[in-house]
Amino acid sequence: MQLYKEQQIKIYNSLTGKKETFKPIEEGYVGMYVCGPTVYSNVHLGNVRTFMSFDMVFRYLKHLGYKVRYVRNITDAGHLENDADTGEDKITKKARLEQIEPMEVVQQYTVDFHNILNTFNFLPPSIEPTATGHIIEQIELINTIIENGFAYEVNGSVYFDVHKFNETNEYGKLSKRKLEDLIHNTRELDGQSDKKNPQDFALWKKAEPQHIMRWPSPWSDGFPGWHLECTAMSTKYLGDQFDIHGGGMDLKFPHHECEIAQNEAAKGKSPVNYWMHANMLQLNGQRMSKSTGNTVNPSELLSGDNKFFSKAYSPSVIRFFNAQSSYRSVLDLTDEGLLASEKGFNRLMDAIALLNGLKTSETSSFDVASWKQKCYDAMNDDFNSPILIAHLFEATKYINQIKEGKETISEADLVNLKDTINGFVFDVLGLVNSSNGDSGTDKLAGAVDVLIKLRQEARANKDFALSDKIRDELAEIGIQLKDGKDGTTFSVN
Ligand code: AMP
Ligand code: ZN
Repeated sequence: MQLYKEQQIKIYNSLTGKKETFKPIEEGYVGMYVCGPTVYSNVHLGNVRTFMSFDMVFRYLKHLGYKVRYVRNITDAGHLENDADTGEDKITKKARLEQIEPMEVVQQYTVDFHNILNTFNFLPPSIEPTATGHIIEQIELINTIIENGFAYEVNGSVYFDVHKFNETNEYGKLSKRKLEDLIHNTRELDGQSDKKNPQDFALWKKAEPQHIMRWPSPWSDGFPGWHLECTAMSTKYLGDQFDIHGGGMDLKFPHHECEIAQNEAAKGKSPVNYWMHANMLQLNGQRMSKSTGNTVNPSELLSGDNKFFSKAYSPSVIRFFNAQSSYRSVLDLTDEGLLASEKGFNRLMDAIALLNGLKTSETSSFDVASWKQKCYDAMNDDFNSPILIAHLFEATKYINQIKEGKETISEADLVNLKDTINGFVFDVLGLVNSSNGDSGTDKLAGAVDVLIKLRQEARANKDFALSDKIRDELAEIGIQLKDGKDGTTFSVN
């Protein structure tokens, strides 16, 4: 029997503001769409956090036996610099600044994105469609929206008529905004715009002569509006109505609000049954964001070469740190937090390493079956990974005490415990055991730790020539040792 038949998930639905029992449209199958990156620069750790949270959701659904079609797009056209449909296309701007083709920009940062995802042990989505690969579908959608009376053309551009839509539908229901308030809070058009109302948004924009990324359409040579691609691609692969749509909290408005409006206007249906929004990663108390420059890139954290952190952290420690808070909470990236997660992660891995050699007894002094259900209950409760980790630590304590002879475990329970821990730690949380040496970064960290210990021994023996040699030769190959009050750490240049 599939696990999902006995494990009932509840998902916090941003649309209703409630935790709801998850019931997929078709039993046993889940369609999930997550907005992917706009590939005009390197992803930062904030972006990674959101994708990591949905990787965990994907992994848990698969673990329960669902057949999941997970679609995560690549935005390679149409994303303008600001939400009011003004400014330059982000990719075109980068291409202009670097004097390369827009598609070179797209290629470079798509490759970077994939490398980062591999480093962090992400499962690939089932489909990774691009906006430029779905221009025809987007043009068809615009045609339907115009035919249904919810969009208008002006000077070769097409805009969604938010006011008209709101007469029959509810614009703002996801982000809990009222059109009247939006009207009150937006500046009047300055006469430059073709829009009837400032709240309207572009479905198609006529390209200026210098705009390189352009496609023919019934209205003009131009390009699609950013919100449209996600409607076109999600419904093409998942149907007009599908189960889960995810993205970062900042995409709720206007992006996801517009997706709902487009779908309702084109197909008469609200597209998504469960809207999930991941909360923001902060750096030193401020949201990590490309536009403010308050960012750390994954490679900077993995190498330790940055101005914020005392040392390098492995990808699994960063994953563990992320899972120690709920995907719906704001998470502040700090050195103290990462150090604590590293300790916790190592404690967990040490306990897992003990599992194979544990002595079994006639009976168990711990109720493994009910502990296992508590792990499921945590994840069933809107993917509550911090509570799951608290239960994993409970098991860690138990394993250590069995080792010390203070607790007992039966053979059957040991098999159950191992399976459960492996399932949650490696399959669901996607962690990689550093003592198995699965990742190059983890291996490097292990090797440098050995050298740090040898250097400490040399110092204890007053062999300063040797301790300096270790430090200097590591520095020569770009590994800096830093002596601090809590011991020696290192960074890679
Ligand atoms: P973008 O490439 O800017 O479209 O962003 C890609 C994804 O990263 C979106 O789902 C954003 O919501 C998400 N994102 C951006 N900044 C952060 C942040 N500081 N913390 C978490 N997620 C973020
Ligand atoms: Zn999107």
